[in-house]
Amino acid sequence: MKANPFGRTGANVSVIGQGTWYLDHADRKRAIAALQRGLDLGMSHVDTAEMYGDAELVIADAIAGRRDEVFLVSKVLPSNASRRGTIAACERSLKRLKTDRLDCYLLHWRGSYALEDTVAAFEELVKAGKIKSWGVSNFDADDLDEMLDVAGKGRIACNQVLYHLKERAIEHAVIPWCEKHGVAVVAYSPFGHDDFPAASSKGGAALAQIAKAHGATPRQVALRFLTRATTVFAIPKASSAEHAAENAAAGDITLTKDEIAALDAAFPRGPKPRGLPML
Ligand code: NAP
Repeated sequence: MKANPFGRTGANVSVIGQGTWYLDHADRKRAIAALQRGLDLGMSHVDTAEMYGDAELVIADAIAGRRDEVFLVSKVLPSNASRRGTIAACERSLKRLKTDRLDCYLLHWRGSYALEDTVAAFEELVKAGKIKSWGVSNFDADDLDEMLDVAGKGRIACNQVLYHLKERAIEHAVIPWCEKHGVAVVAYSPFGHDDFPAASSKGGAALAQIAKAHGATPRQVALRFLTRATTVFAIPKASSAEHAAENAAAGDITLTKDEIAALDAAFPRGPKPRGLPML
């Protein structure tokens, strides 16, 4: 599994990681086995959130005894992101995850609390050793500008944003902003949540052709296309060990320039939308 520097955190993180939204709806034993298979195959980046119901509890069981292998990320809800609320939310997540620290803690999306308050809480958590770094999610370039003004250089570890073959809006301004400022981009819902291109579609045919040339699957090719820039990481969610293994193997594929161009044509980026799309 390829690993790249995660922004300016000093950590090297697996290019393909593991999402956990709705993982608590799956059979618990299968979900734990999926996460563990993912870890065995190097998908160290495990993403969760206080919003994801009992997913943090599932992760706690999956990572018991192997915490040091994991780059563990959770998120505070905007409605909790006051100075005191952020700290309390983090402590609840630590308890549910049965760990003493998060590798990165994110503001799930921008809400009504002042960024200054949330950042002050994040920095307090860093000082206390409860989080190693912090970042944001669903921030457009202008939100990132504001956050940079509040936090100063080198503090924002990542921006976790919607990115899949049919939704490439972040390529217009968000990825360039993050590249310029040393901020990792984390692609969420890399399979479109539940909207992966059908094999019968034009895009599906392009994926299948490239996959065949690599002895790979269309989903593996999609993950590699999305992570073709070293600043971009992806966190597909899988609730079976088989799916986790398929996703992990994507990290070993190298697409040629022509293949990237073919995918670019099959799944056009489209014009810049007014607002940043999110789920
Ligand atoms: P996703 O990863 O795009 O897609 C998940 C779907 O793909 C599930 O139905 C899963 O099925 C299926 N799948 C996974 N691997 C597969 C494989 N190898 N073959 C066939 N099917 C496969 O959707 P997502 O869960 O929305 O996004 C991923 C993660 O991003 C989330 O879990 C969460 O951690 C994060 N996220 C963050 C935000 C945010 O606002 N920051 C928003 C959305 C998501 P099975 O479950 O049956 O394996």
